[in-house]
Amino acid sequence: MNEITLSAIKADVGSVGGHLAPSREMVARVKEFLSREGGGILVDHHVTHLGDDICLLLSHREGVGSHEVHKLAWEAFKMGARIAREEGLYGAGQDLLRDAFSGNVRGLGPGVAELSFRERPGEAFLLLLADKTSPGALNLPLYLAFADPMHCSGLILSPSLGQGFRFTVMDVAHTKADRVIELDAPQDLYDLAALLRDNDRFVVEKVHARATGDQAVACSTTRLTAIAGRYVGKDDPVAIVRVQKDFPATGEVLAPFALAHYVPGFMRGSHIGPLMPVRAGTPVSYFDGPPQVMALAFSCHGGRLSDPVDAFDHPFWDRIRDRAADKSLEIRRQGFFGPAMLGMAELEYTGIADRLKALEARFTVRE
Ligand SMILES: [Mg+2]
Repeated sequence: MNEITLSAIKADVGSVGGHLAPSREMVARVKEFLSREGGGILVDHHVTHLGDDICLLLSHREGVGSHEVHKLAWEAFKMGARIAREEGLYGAGQDLLRDAFSGNVRGLGPGVAELSFRERPGEAFLLLLADKTSPGALNLPLYLAFADPMHCSGLILSPSLGQGFRFTVMDVAHTKADRVIELDAPQDLYDLAALLRDNDRFVVEKVHARATGDQAVACSTTRLTAIAGRYVGKDDPVAIVRVQKDFPATGEVLAPFALAHYVPGFMRGSHIGPLMPVRAGTPVSYFDGPPQVMALAFSCHGGRLSDPVDAFDHPFWDRIRDRAADKSLEIRRQGFFGPAMLGMAELEYTGIADRLKALEARFTVRE
């Protein structure tokens, strides 16, 4: 097969001191495992982490949804979870929802973003990884990078970008099967905006260039299922975004993150906070947050990955981080009240439901 597949698979399999970060030993052993066991399957790999999540970026020729590749990732995470248990880390193995691997890591806990393509000369892409937030957190930056000339000037300056992009959007609340819709930008822009604003339900899954039909974006979009008293799939997103040429430039994809827009997540996944662009490997801190996103830029040739450049490790983003900290403090001032905490529909699987149920009996209706 001439096509290269990039698979980004991430999971939280335990972290130090609460939900802060995986241990050095876990990350080192996962890297070792992939180097040792990935030989016959992978062309190359890179392991990174953000907050409590470890992310495996795997390049190979096995195609999307490959049993071998997913099994390798599953085994790597199981090994990470084993070390987390030995070290007494918090939430050891928490994203591995089943004991046994069954064909594909989708639905077993880890988040997956993968796409296959014929490599361009000068193949460039971004790995975006977010933590302490929810699947739709990337909706707005992707919309702005691929559909809004205020953020992506290539849409008016480049004839091929000017033909627009096709968004595949998934209804993650539809639990029985993948329910998706394809919408074209700019023709269907208002329909797209109407769906993407509801970022707990509608999540960008893919973006294709209309000029070439080539896929630019793959995002993790696990359907929500309520298992064991919590939503499964309501998880931190990972995305691969191919950039340059017929796709937006790297900087056009990064630019919307300067908004540090408010997203669901933060403490107990139950609040609203600004998405702070941070360096790779940043731990979790203030109020089990703030919600954060990292971006590693890669080039690849024959599936071999360059050393990444940490795209948010630049003085410009210090200013944005300060603004995101200010926005965090501002919304945290009102604690649990109103829009600082998620609505009741999203809190359905937390203890507040029991509290409200107990209060029901104490209500009286005044005649
Ligand atoms: Mg996480």
